[in-house]
Amino acid sequence: MSVKSKKSNGSGKHEKLFGTSGIRGKIQGEVTAELALNVGKAIATYLNGKGDVVVGYDPRTSNQMLENAICAGLLESGCNVLKLKMVPTPLVGYAVAKLDADAGIMITASHNPSEYNGIKVWNKNGMAYTPSQEEKLEEIYYSKEFINVSWENIGNIYFIEDIKEKYINELLNLVDIKPGLKVVIDPASGAGSELSPIIFRRAGCEVITLNSQVDGFFPGRNPEPNENNLKDLMKVVSATGANIGIAHDGDADRMIAVDEQGRISDFDKLLAIVSREFGGKIITTVDAGLSIDEALESVGGEVVRTKVGDVNVAEAICEENATFGGEPSGTWLHPDFCMCPDGILSGLRITEIVSKKGPLSKLLDDIPNYPNLREKIPCSKEDKLNVMENIQGLLIKKFEDIANVNTIDGLRLTFNDGSWVLVRPSGTEDYIRVTLEAKDQKRVEFIKDSCIEIIEKLLS
Ligand code: MG
Repeated sequence: MSVKSKKSNGSGKHEKLFGTSGIRGKIQGEVTAELALNVGKAIATYLNGKGDVVVGYDPRTSNQMLENAICAGLLESGCNVLKLKMVPTPLVGYAVAKLDADAGIMITASHNPSEYNGIKVWNKNGMAYTPSQEEKLEEIYYSKEFINVSWENIGNIYFIEDIKEKYINELLNLVDIKPGLKVVIDPASGAGSELSPIIFRRAGCEVITLNSQVDGFFPGRNPEPNENNLKDLMKVVSATGANIGIAHDGDADRMIAVDEQGRISDFDKLLAIVSREFGGKIITTVDAGLSIDEALESVGGEVVRTKVGDVNVAEAICEENATFGGEPSGTWLHPDFCMCPDGILSGLRITEIVSKKGPLSKLLDDIPNYPNLREKIPCSKEDKLNVMENIQGLLIKKFEDIANVNTIDGLRLTFNDGSWVLVRPSGTEDYIRVTLEAKDQKRVEFIKDSCIEIIEKLLS
């Protein structure tokens, strides 16, 4: 959600600053130097006007403007700044924990186009700020009651030079990739352009790069790693006889793989393949499909579903003491390393599995394809509340074979045969979304028709 959204923070006094992944918006629209300056002051005020804050950015054209403004705010309100310059988001999370800093800031708009930018804040342990922490920042931001320290207490800037080498070495210690695999890496000219190819080379892979020149205009492709934007990667993987293609988003906290036949992986299946290797308790979101449950069942593990959003996955990993967690978007968290999503480590992990158990096409094809469906039904804000309040009782009456009811984020019903349906109001648009997956087409149609009939009745 961008800053321009008119949603109130609950008090009804002002617009909401933080969306599902930090502050995000168009440059010189919602996101300005003035905003960054005051967010810097708000963060330093939240930290009681002292401590060290790590700051990094992705290669967007607005990065220097926002970095300078946010750093000025931090310094004026008493914090020191540990500058990383242009780095992938996971390096900010790692550096906060490694340098024992008090917070981290990444200036990025992740997968959004060049004209966007944003600010995401990180905790001491490398985990993103939770919604309740963001609410506190928002209160300080709008109150403008910032700490302004006296001249002798203004913070200092330190340039951190040696953290990349530590990060690379720690990542390489976590994986064991058989040498000689050919890997095509497409970082979208984003923040992963420098480090991702270097790390794969040092892991023993033969690396071909695509869109690996750092460029905030993202000239090669849009930074969102989806099938439409990865056509070149898919072609290059099959044309060069590579074993795997690895794509990142603009800040490299996400990863999507292309198999050796040049096909983009089904996101759920990719998550299932990696989750199965971890076993134990795995965290995913309510919109993730059936293949992850079946993969974990095959190794005696357990899947816990949480709200959509990587910070919710991170929080649940800590609460449940889980081994691994991820969203189907390719945002995966590796708690044996850091509580910040890491697209480079995600790429290394799938490549390690391919080197030992591949090819990737076979790993993907061994997982059954189940028919699925996504529908959206136009629905006003007021009607959304009415539908969500009443739909649970009506659906439970309609279906006799419900195995599980999950209301953590919308309503998710799992049936005895593993089929599932998620009814969830869109957070940003006037729609109710119905997402479902079932063992056969007939069942998909039956579940869909039943849900839509009930929603339409509630809307009439
Ligand atoms: Mg991202």
